[in-house]
Amino acid sequence: MSTAIHRVVVVGGGIAGVSTVGSLRAEGYEGELTLVDAGELPYDRPPLSKEYLSGTKDFKQIALQPAEWYGDNAIRLRNLTTVAALRPGEGGVELADGTVLPADRVVLATGGRAARPPIPGGDSGRVHVLRTSEDADRLRERLLPGAAVLVVGAGLIGAEVASTALDLGCAVTLVDPVPVPLAAAIGPDIASWLHGLHRARGVDTVCGAVESFADTATGITVKLGDGSSPREFDVAVLGVGMAPETGLASAAGLEVDRGIVVDPGQVTSNPAVLAVGDPTRVKRDGILAPRAEHWEAAQHDGQRAAATILGRAAAGRTAPWFWTDRHHRHIEAVGRMAAADRVVLRGELGSAAFSAFGILDGLVVGAVAVDDSHAVRAARRMIDRGLTVDPRKLADPATDLRKLLRG
Ligand SMILES: Cc1cc2nc3c(=O)[nH]c(=O)nc-3n(C[C@H](O)[C@H](O)[C@H](O)COP(=O)(O)OP(=O)(O)OC[C@H]3O[C@@H](n4cnc5c(N)ncnc54)[C@H](O)[C@@H]3O)c2cc1C
Repeated sequence: MSTAIHRVVVVGGGIAGVSTVGSLRAEGYEGELTLVDAGELPYDRPPLSKEYLSGTKDFKQIALQPAEWYGDNAIRLRNLTTVAALRPGEGGVELADGTVLPADRVVLATGGRAARPPIPGGDSGRVHVLRTSEDADRLRERLLPGAAVLVVGAGLIGAEVASTALDLGCAVTLVDPVPVPLAAAIGPDIASWLHGLHRARGVDTVCGAVESFADTATGITVKLGDGSSPREFDVAVLGVGMAPETGLASAAGLEVDRGIVVDPGQVTSNPAVLAVGDPTRVKRDGILAPRAEHWEAAQHDGQRAAATILGRAAAGRTAPWFWTDRHHRHIEAVGRMAAADRVVLRGELGSAAFSAFGILDGLVVGAVAVDDSHAVRAARRMIDRGLTVDPRKLADPATDLRKLLRG
């Protein structure tokens, strides 16, 4: 992109937006820089289902940057402000109060909303979702010791909420229509062990789909699709995914296809508008990738967008990585386990540290580790370098993975 860029406006202060403004300054951008966000102070979302929900971290501890960082870096933070429309033709964005902020480049970092599937009764105030700190505050008030809590969805966020609610002394029921949730993302062995961990810790796991909710005088009843009698809970939480925030992009006529379509440098179908983070889908050689929806991917998007704005080559994509924490175990996954034709287990399921590697045609294409970050770091290098590794050596916990990296 041209170097005659003097005004950049970033819409959305999640990790993707904050990474964009931070990277622009770190890489030497000296022009005007504005970050518009609907909230008070940009904060991190992963703790919302973990330390923030349990109360072991307060809001200040989950802020992405301290308030003074924005001024120190000449970033104008327009907090508690919503962008109502993009005006790329006129070179700027329009705020909800009608003010127009001129911009040479706009970066959409608008994230997403918690999905609320159209389940009858699902709009009850006793049916919570979790995407914002306000959602977490509301939910925490209800997670009292002894409370009967229904968590719908045993993927990443639902499982974390179930674990945190259990730690807070709640009686937790976790319902999901899939017998082994996350099997595609992390492979069947570890997925099955992880789901079993809920039961082992006292969560009532139910395989089924919620048909309807109905408020009672003191709680909420839930009817499952299997015809069983309705069950009563004090509170229900939906952890069933997110809906990308694509409204501004659609209204501005940008290409949107269940996500804002961007090129590998994060540029949308309008060259003056870039997009980063959860709502984006990368199109390469005409093929659309799925939305990443993980923290590190959003952070890397911001770095790439900054490079593009500065006219530099954006860094290539590394194997996707995410982490999740539940029942005091730390899980990391890298690459694409779903693509593997063979899974090699390293260490014993349930031991202090173990992992699984996904292999396709001899190449490592994915890995998942429980309390073993080292294995995932090594796997990432194997994937990024396209290494062929002897599965017997991989499976042996005595093998030093660094040696395998040397080939
Ligand atoms: C509870 C929870 C736990 C998670 N745990 C993990 C985890 O353990 N590991 C992991 O890898 N990932 C995790 N994630 C996912 C990770 O947090 C997201 O991938 C990441 O937050 C995406 O960042 P983002 O900047 O794209 O979007 P967001 O964080 O959603 O930020 C978007 C921002 O844009 C603002 N905005 C939107 N529209 C406008 C507008 N018109 N005007 C002004 N502002 C606007 C919003 O208010 C918001 O602040 C978790 C997510 C949640 C919700």
